[in-house]
Amino acid sequence: MSSNEVFVTPIIKEILRKYRVIWAIGHASALMGWDLEVCMPPAGVKERSAASAELGVLSQKLLLDPEFVSLVEKAAEAELANDYERGLVRVLKREIDRMRKIPPEVLHELIKTTGEAQVVWREAKQRSDFGMFRPYLEKIVELERRIAEYLGYEEHPYDALLDFYEEGVRVKDLDPVFQQLEPELRKIIEKVLSEGRFPQWHPLEDLPYRKEDLKELNLATLELLGYPLGERARLDESTHPFTQSIGVNDVRITTRYEGKDFRRSYLAVIHEFGHALYELQIDERLAMTPLATGASLGIHESQSRFWENIIGRSRAFVTAVYPLIEKHLPFVSGYGPDEVFLYFNVVRPSLIRVEADEVTYNMHIILRYRLEKALIEGSMDVSDLPSAWNDLMDKLLGVRPRNDAEGVLQDIHWSMGSIGYFPTYTLGTLAAAQIAGAAEKELGSLEELVREKGFGRLREWLREKIHRWGATYPPKELLRRVVGSEYSAEPFIGYIRGKYLA
Ligand code: MG
Repeated sequence: MSSNEVFVTPIIKEILRKYRVIWAIGHASALMGWDLEVCMPPAGVKERSAASAELGVLSQKLLLDPEFVSLVEKAAEAELANDYERGLVRVLKREIDRMRKIPPEVLHELIKTTGEAQVVWREAKQRSDFGMFRPYLEKIVELERRIAEYLGYEEHPYDALLDFYEEGVRVKDLDPVFQQLEPELRKIIEKVLSEGRFPQWHPLEDLPYRKEDLKELNLATLELLGYPLGERARLDESTHPFTQSIGVNDVRITTRYEGKDFRRSYLAVIHEFGHALYELQIDERLAMTPLATGASLGIHESQSRFWENIIGRSRAFVTAVYPLIEKHLPFVSGYGPDEVFLYFNVVRPSLIRVEADEVTYNMHIILRYRLEKALIEGSMDVSDLPSAWNDLMDKLLGVRPRNDAEGVLQDIHWSMGSIGYFPTYTLGTLAAAQIAGAAEKELGSLEELVREKGFGRLREWLREKIHRWGATYPPKELLRRVVGSEYSAEPFIGYIRGKYLA
């Protein structure tokens, strides 16, 4: 091991020795978070939340310990041995800076407000009553605006919030991307709908399945994709599918079983597999360090969407897994691979983001991006949100919510104080197409690779180019290394045109 070490400079080794406790708290917190969603009896929530909050505070205290901070500052000035060491210092400095810039009382107020807001949001959504949620959202927006000021920014206050989720990405990067995407998508959606080659609805959406059968299919598909089930990875159930990495050799995904419309559970599994594979293929030498995670939310999402959309919804994939689907879900056998392909690729402008197809999905993000930016720059009031949401929905997708539950209240993110998060979904979608292009240049046609079930070659390519680095490089730099450019809309537009209109 020692001859193979990546961290060699003495001060870095000292930082990592001290960091070990912070890592252990993170490890325990990750397991507690997974358990909360998957196993915990509901009545445990109060004690679990209290314990998590205490551990969070303890971890913060250790990170801001003057001795630790001064080590990191010294290391930032020192001559370091390699990119891993420089990445390590960059990541720690970012975390320390952020913690130091936001006054503890403001952070505390945000935690308290969002804790209450999530409870109120749930009820407001159920009753479809934005008025109930409004005072909480007003408070959250006000706090986020203050936080943006504390964090600082050069051009736009939204930049400060965005940077937390996607290091180095700014409004000036996003505006041109979204401005290009919107009219292109509008044209494509109109054309796909008028041509009618892809249906707006498929009968398989209504067919029920037996949960045990679909579970078997999900497991068989994960095995085919090379997910190390039972060894370093798990598949469980939760209300909302997610991936949790506990460590580089313990990564867990979940899906849900709703009883009908099997593609929802099935494609969620493939999506989460993409997230999990990223974590599982991080260089083991980065284990227990702050680099043992993805480069950013956008890059992470590029991996899930690559597997879910570009691979999972492709004709070649559906053809390859059709025998498995037919075996485990006998009711599909009358349809054939062509119909399952159409079922996986229904295009239907709809009100709910999480149910959107890959053609209309990004319109939902454009809408949220515009509204968030307006709220944070102060050009829109929270009270104007519901009508602004409905008008924009109408303009972008030609559908209009009948109530707030179908509109402005649908996402949990704002109640959690996550403003600046949504754009990473689109960045991930765009990067997935960019990365697919780069992979094709080196591996040849992905369609052929998938037809031959050459998933191992694809996994290896992703490991070599992206996964093994963990958080060593910031997202823009990593992307530049892999595809030779920054986030760009063109490869995605080309991919969508090629699939849906060619
Ligand atoms: Mg995801």
